[in-house]
Amino acid sequence: METKEFGLHDIVEMKKQHPCGTNAWKIIRMGADIRIKCQGCGHSVMIPRRDFGKKMKKILEKARQE
Ligand SMILES: [Zn+2]
Repeated sequence: METKEFGLHDIVEMKKQHPCGTNAWKIIRMGADIRIKCQGCGHSVMIPRRDFGKKMKKILEKARQE
């Protein structure tokens, strides 16, 4: 089963890729809203946490939680 547990600094793939052609986003802020930053162009967007769970496809890279 696919885990949807995400954390700060994880790199995630969204169901819709960014218009710049990249589909890798880094979680840069966690809260009621999640802020993610496109790894291709540096653009960042804010998504309400409950929408984020639906819009995210998978975690590409887990950040080290140390
Ligand atoms: Zn982009």
